[in-house]
Amino acid sequence: MIIGAIEAGGTKFVCGIGNTDGVISERVSIPTTTPEETMAEVVAFFKDKEIEALGVGSFGPVDLDQSSSTYGFITSTPKPHWAQFDLVGELKKHFDVPVGFDTDVNAAALGESLWGAAKGLDSCLYMTVGTGIGVGALAEGKLVHGLTHPEMGHIMVRRHKDDTFAGRCPFHVDCLEGMAAGPAIQDRWGKKGHELEGSPEVWEMEAHYLAQAIANYVLILSPKKVIVGGGVMKQKQLYPLVREKVKEILGGYVQHEQILERMDEYIVAPGLGDNAGLAGAIGLVKTLQT
Ligand code: ADP
Ligand code: ZN
Repeated sequence: MIIGAIEAGGTKFVCGIGNTDGVISERVSIPTTTPEETMAEVVAFFKDKEIEALGVGSFGPVDLDQSSSTYGFITSTPKPHWAQFDLVGELKKHFDVPVGFDTDVNAAALGESLWGAAKGLDSCLYMTVGTGIGVGALAEGKLVHGLTHPEMGHIMVRRHKDDTFAGRCPFHVDCLEGMAAGPAIQDRWGKKGHELEGSPEVWEMEAHYLAQAIANYVLILSPKKVIVGGGVMKQKQLYPLVREKVKEILGGYVQHEQILERMDEYIVAPGLGDNAGLAGAIGLVKTLQT
């Protein structure tokens, strides 16, 4: 089966062709400008590829309720031009094929569970720490939806004792994303993340916020694996710091060897690297079939 996959992001749309084993044979990156321009390029890429289905993991918020009149829309995004855009509808206009649709992070969680770091598990979390913070969840074999979909990047966190940064989430000011996404690091310290590599206080503070969030996710959802990726996690020293702090916060309460003894296999980098999103989009097509 020839599957078209789209990872629709706020800065770029990555499009690819794949098969049901998650193998991606061709990929392009298209800048996210206006829906008209970007979608014209997306449609042109897939036009002669003879795709039999499409999978789309999108930035959000998105409408995932199949009974809703705005199913498949990007809804209230602050991103100019894209609010209330009918993404699935636009694709359906050009391609008469089934379309699987979910958030970018839910798709990535699914991809990791099919072919990556959570392979074979019926539960995992996929967290990306980049321009924003997003978290997708697979629980009991299903991607978690609800009234809309979880927004675990915007949970409230306790401030670090040495942190005077106000926070920069336009909705909640000092939520997790407002305190710990890439732009927050840059605003707090006056330099971009990659220029702060040699400043341990930056990563100790970053780990303080990420670990609180992950500890909360563990308490609420009890995922079998926590996968953390995104640009900020290129600072590999964050992984051991975060693991140590999660363990400390949980305080021995969650009695499982993964947490008590094998934390380095529990909180991990994406197994699929930069392909998690596209592979996940392919995975969304697989779930359509089951
Ligand atoms: P996006 O979230 O837009 O898809 P990324 O996941 O690449 O993109 O995240 C971009 C963010 O990650 C930026 O805020 C950038 O400063 C930060 N970032 C990128 N590379 C590094 C690095 N090596 N160290 C720390 N932060 C980084
Ligand atoms: Zn927020």
